[in-house]
Amino acid sequence: MKRSKKIVLLAHCLLNVNSKIKGLANYSAHHVDTLKKVVEEELGIIQLPCPEITYLGMDRWGMTKNQYSYPAYRNHCRQLLKPVIDQIREYEKQHYEIVEVVGIDGSPSCGVQYTETGYEGGMVCCDDRNEPQTVRIEESGVYMEELMKLLNEAEISLKFSGIDEK
Ligand code: SF4
Repeated sequence: MKRSKKIVLLAHCLLNVNSKIKGLANYSAHHVDTLKKVVEEELGIIQLPCPEITYLGMDRWGMTKNQYSYPAYRNHCRQLLKPVIDQIREYEKQHYEIVEVVGIDGSPSCGVQYTETGYEGGMVCCDDRNEPQTVRIEESGVYMEELMKLLNEAEISLKFSGIDEK
C-alpha cells in the first residue's frame, strides 16, 4: 500500500492566508516552508477549520485572547474540533501516526507557545490611547486550548508546535 500513514494537523491559514484578518499576511497564499516540509516528509494534511472566520467573518477586527476567551467562542471552537477529534481517533485506531499539530504563535486563537492579551473593546473611533494595548503572554490561544482539552478528554497525546510568522 503506497501511503506514508503519517498525518499533520495544520492551522487553516498555513494553507490559506486569506482567512487572516485584513492587513495581516506575510505570504500570498500558503506558508511555503511548511508545505515544503510536509511534502519532503510525505505527510498527509488535516487542515483545521479557521475558528475566527467561521465566527466573525472577514470584517472582524484584530482581537486578543482575553476578548475571545468567552464561553460562546470556546463552544464554537469545540464544535469545529469535534469532527477533527473523530478523525484522529479513527486514524489512530487504524495505526496511522499523527505527527504533530502546527499552530500560529501570537494568534489569540491558534497560538501554541504564546498569544497576545490586552484589548479592552469599546468604540474604535473614540479610543485616543497611543500606547500599545497588547502584551505577549506565554499561553496558548483559545482554539488550541480547546483542542488540547478535547484531546485530553479523548486520552490522545499529540505534539504541538507553533510557527512564528514574523
Ligand atoms: S484563527 Fe487561526 S487559522 Fe484562523 S486566521 Fe487566525 S491563526 Fe489562522
